Amino acid sequence: MASEKTYLAVTCTAPVNIAVIKYWGKRDEELILPINSSLSVTLHQDQLKTTTTAVISKDFTEDRIWLNGREEDIGQPRIQACLREIRRLARKRRSGDEEDLLPLSLNYKVHIASVNNFPTAAGLASSASGYACLAYALARVYGVESDLSEVARRGSGSACRSLYGGFVEWQMGEQADGKDSVARQVAPESHWPELRVLILVVSAEKKLTGSTVGMQTSVETSPLLRVAYTFDAGPNAVIFTLDDTVAEFVAAVRHSFPPESNGDKFLKGLPVKPAPLSDELKAALDMDPTPGGIKYIIATQVGPGPQILDNPHAHLLGPDGLPKPTV
Ligand code: ADP
Repeated sequence: MASEKTYLAVTCTAPVNIAVIKYWGKRDEELILPINSSLSVTLHQDQLKTTTTAVISKDFTEDRIWLNGREEDIGQPRIQACLREIRRLARKRRSGDEEDLLPLSLNYKVHIASVNNFPTAAGLASSASGYACLAYALARVYGVESDLSEVARRGSGSACRSLYGGFVEWQMGEQADGKDSVARQVAPESHWPELRVLILVVSAEKKLTGSTVGMQTSVETSPLLRVAYTFDAGPNAVIFTLDDTVAEFVAAVRHSFPPESNGDKFLKGLPVKPAPLSDELKAALDMDPTPGGIKYIIATQVGPGPQILDNPHAHLLGPDGLPKPTV
């Protein structure tokens, strides 16, 4: 077994988060430093998650990445920034006295495969769960134990908030090098058990305007940027409510936006008991119904941060470092 220490595979999952105090622009585009601190709720991975496998091996000749089963360009600047940063942190740790504790050579190339169980680039924050999961998986294979805010942030700013469960603050920081621009948990997911989050999916198509360009436009053109907290990076609305109100709210949505073809698939995620719409609420919904205006609702709640999957069957890459065939 001379090859025992020449291969290491790690698979983990990471959550989506939705900000209630928004990250809405950058003060440094290169380092991805925000113009304000932000606060988010981490959503439960039972409904929305990214799964990422990272494998390092002596036998790999180049870094490679597959996203949702398709090979992507590993040279993308954001992926490169994450890789550079994680290798820098690993090198820093190894230059200490901890040589023996560390897994494999830093020179080994990495293969990465990642899947989202929800639409990518559609305004459902796949970049947040995606880059948090990437940072988490890379840290495990390269033996990095320090704070991963910077690694995730270099992929996508809001990704640093997906490194923790519950309620999370991304502190904007003051330093020019961004070292103090980090995420931290404000309260765990158990803090507010009745809280529910409903995502009203108006469109699950790829966004016409990516978040980066959208943010730049907002910073340049919106004099009310700091007060505009209700719009999001995409058309989909996110509703925060309490457990005892969900059924009636869903009834109101069904009334105003009658499901078109997929009536039985209209509600995804947490089960919601059918409830009648009260006459009072019906009267208050003073609008003509818009059939199909909302494609579906994802009912979810606050959830935990990234998780390691111990079961080797969970790996998205086989021992040859290539994506396992999907059945
Ligand atoms: P979203 O609203 O889904 O975050 P963005 O346009 O802001 O949309 O970001 C989508 C981009 O994030 C993708 O094009 C891809 O580059 C990156 N991304 C999404 N999911 C992953 C993933 N699982 N792993 C790595 N990168 C990902």
